[in-house]
Amino acid sequence: MPAKSVNDIVALCKRRGFIFTGSEIYGGLGGAYDYGPYGVELMKNIRNAWWNAMIYSRNDIEGLDAALISNRLLWKYSGHEASFSDPLVECKKCGTRMRQDKMKDPTKCDNCGSTEITEPRAYQLMMGLSIGAMADGAINAYLRPETATTTYVNFKNVLDAKPHKLPFGIAQIGKAFRNEISPRGFVFRMREFEQAEMQYFVNPADDEKYFEQWKATRLAWWIDVLGIPAEKLRFLPHEKLAHYAKAAVDIEYAFPDGFDEVEGVHNRQDFDLGSHTKSQDEFKIHAKVLENKDSTTKLSYSDAQTGENFIPYVIETAMGVNRAMLAVMIEAYTEEELGDGKSRVVLKLKPWLAPVKAAVIPLARNVPELLEISNNIENDLRKLGIGRIELENSGNIGKNYRRHDEIGTPVCITVDHQTIEDGTVTLRYRDTMEQVRVPIADVTTKVLDIVKQ
Ligand code: ATP
Repeated sequence: MPAKSVNDIVALCKRRGFIFTGSEIYGGLGGAYDYGPYGVELMKNIRNAWWNAMIYSRNDIEGLDAALISNRLLWKYSGHEASFSDPLVECKKCGTRMRQDKMKDPTKCDNCGSTEITEPRAYQLMMGLSIGAMADGAINAYLRPETATTTYVNFKNVLDAKPHKLPFGIAQIGKAFRNEISPRGFVFRMREFEQAEMQYFVNPADDEKYFEQWKATRLAWWIDVLGIPAEKLRFLPHEKLAHYAKAAVDIEYAFPDGFDEVEGVHNRQDFDLGSHTKSQDEFKIHAKVLENKDSTTKLSYSDAQTGENFIPYVIETAMGVNRAMLAVMIEAYTEEELGDGKSRVVLKLKPWLAPVKAAVIPLARNVPELLEISNNIENDLRKLGIGRIELENSGNIGKNYRRHDEIGTPVCITVDHQTIEDGTVTLRYRDTMEQVRVPIADVTTKVLDIVKQ
């Protein structure tokens, strides 16, 4: 049974060190969260899974890690400076500020129910910066609100360094910043978050084919790689398209409060490369773009066979890594009755996603013989390079099992007095709680088998 409420996850995240409120000791800061010891591991495993699917499993996509701060002109020509805004309304009675398009009923205040709501005004979502000694506090740069634009302006750099024929892509994982009006849903809507985005450059004649292909590829990744059940995911096509888009669809996950977006797949036409290219007049640009007199580089593609030089179309896949982790935790969260009024919380993560791959637990605390054997097993497991291995020397086996159930450790290895006599240990499996005795020599193979699942 997955979590019934996001509050279950919030409590677990704090208790077990996955996610903390940002700046917590000073009262926090809306929309900012800090990832703790197990949160960083889970995020890293999700990131790696995405990178593996995008880069290591294919030969048509390159990686990139662009700066978070960038020249203001980037965001002028991308259209963000003029129009990356949300409709902000305010309740005249209680003062609550809300994003009009996300209100339960746009005629009534979400907080107090009053119908006295102000007219919407555009609210800039980009966070402005004042960079350099001469800046005097005036905004002269922005923190990026997405990774995508920083990818487009590197189109030529990547293509020159690593020639490709169309179609090919550039993928990026990194932070994005948005001054969201109302951060909500724990890490669902934050002001600082992480995106995993891939821009696939295609011949305009092939755009619809690749749009459909990427929809299917990304949905399959959520199901096969992250292990989210197919019936908990759905496509939601955008009814109202953004000015640059020819088609757009959200992949939605069934959160406890209902379906909501976790990833977008967009056909952005030639809007992005067309907006940032030099010599726009030389190309037939289909999307409506701002006249660009500042760009120093043509962002076009030369087809060696036809001799044609044109602006490719872009199919984008845009995933929120924090939302992916939240969905994975909700799905894995399980409360089990154990009889006699006892129960446990267990995070049934796919083993390779687990923050800790195995825990080695001497049955009693500070017994030199037990500790030495445990240290040896720990070191052997570390040499496998499968991720984090923990040794628990507290002597409280019940507490250790509970902790590792809650952080999703797939297997615990218990070393006891019998181990000293016959060289066997107990493997205790997270999901079934089954315990089996195996020779120490078999431990690494067994753990490897479990972690590969
Ligand atoms: P929304 O409609 O929820 O505001 P969006 O359509 O603006 O999202 P995109 O710009 O397509 O989102 O970003 C791609 C992905 O980044 C989203 O699918 C989501 O998973 C994630 N994302 C966007 N905004 C946030 C945020 N404020 N906090 C956490 N994740 C976010």
